[in-house]
Amino acid sequence: MKALAYGGPGKKAVEDRPKPQIKAPGDAIVKITKTTICGTDLHILKGDVPTCVAGRILGHEGVGVVDAVGAGVTAFKPGDRVLISCISSCGKCEYCRRGMYSHCTTGGWILGHLIDGTQAEYVRIPHAETSLYPIPAGADEEALVMLSDILPTGFECGVLNGKVAPGSTVAIVGSGPIGLAALLTAQFYSPAEIIMIDLDDNRLGLARQFGATHTINSADGKAAETVKTLTGGRGVDAAIEAVGVPATFGLCEDLVAPGGIIANVGVHGKKVDLHLERLWSHNIAVTTRLVDTVTTPMLMKTVQSKKLDPTRLITHRFKLDQILDAYDTFGRAAETHALKVIISA
Ligand SMILES: [Zn+2]
Ligand SMILES: [Zn+2]
Repeated sequence: MKALAYGGPGKKAVEDRPKPQIKAPGDAIVKITKTTICGTDLHILKGDVPTCVAGRILGHEGVGVVDAVGAGVTAFKPGDRVLISCISSCGKCEYCRRGMYSHCTTGGWILGHLIDGTQAEYVRIPHAETSLYPIPAGADEEALVMLSDILPTGFECGVLNGKVAPGSTVAIVGSGPIGLAALLTAQFYSPAEIIMIDLDDNRLGLARQFGATHTINSADGKAAETVKTLTGGRGVDAAIEAVGVPATFGLCEDLVAPGGIIANVGVHGKKVDLHLERLWSHNIAVTTRLVDTVTTPMLMKTVQSKKLDPTRLITHRFKLDQILDAYDTFGRAAETHALKVIISA
């Protein structure tokens, strides 16, 4: 089968690989119909994720059709259409029993990281019963690809951890796919203001279409001041960090109101400063989270009932044999205006 393999920092190639086989009774083999590329894949390619070794097939998002199941799988059978969660969970370990699938002792984020992933014609999914979701008849499968990772990530790590509430004020720093996923799902709770901050005017324009009440281009270094002006000098109740660099985390520290929450979503590769000399008395909280994907079934219902339209995040479409072009387009998002790319196998 064709697959996109990581070849060490800066290297990737489309390779011919053997079709994966069932290794454990809980496994399923899924024939991929649609997958996508994540910002995390670009982090891996930069060498930021040393636990991902050369030779790994990348990708942790996608939908497909069950091709084969292990002897222990009763919830799915060949032919079933399924959504693949970016987080594998056994459903039985202490963390899984607490709903913290991201820290499953035999799962978590392993797909396209510690085991071969979804940017291929087939993928082996461990703990299939608790890591796959049945796709309802008639569902838009491209929309559901957005539920493998970015929508639960924006929602759980940003909106839920940030305790977005009716009438509250929210700032989302970063208007990429994850920031926009947080923007879409924050609106479940009717906050009074959602301020989107980014350096890219195209992405800020999309943010306004997606429901942002204000947008700020932070290139002038005055974003925190502008937020203070917009909020009567207070700052925001929830500052959602959706980039993962020191400057954007620092900005969240500057614009969070007393009593507010900094909800970190970004993948950080470098240390950041926590300004406790200023914030110690501000009653704030800082939260971090690796997405658990516990909200995937709920999000699927909101997509089915059209309360949420994740297809708005899809900008480009490719075939699997054009995946290097897809990486190029996704990697040059400022020029190509790419958000999420759909890759059909
Ligand atoms: Zn991802
Ligand atoms: Zn577990």
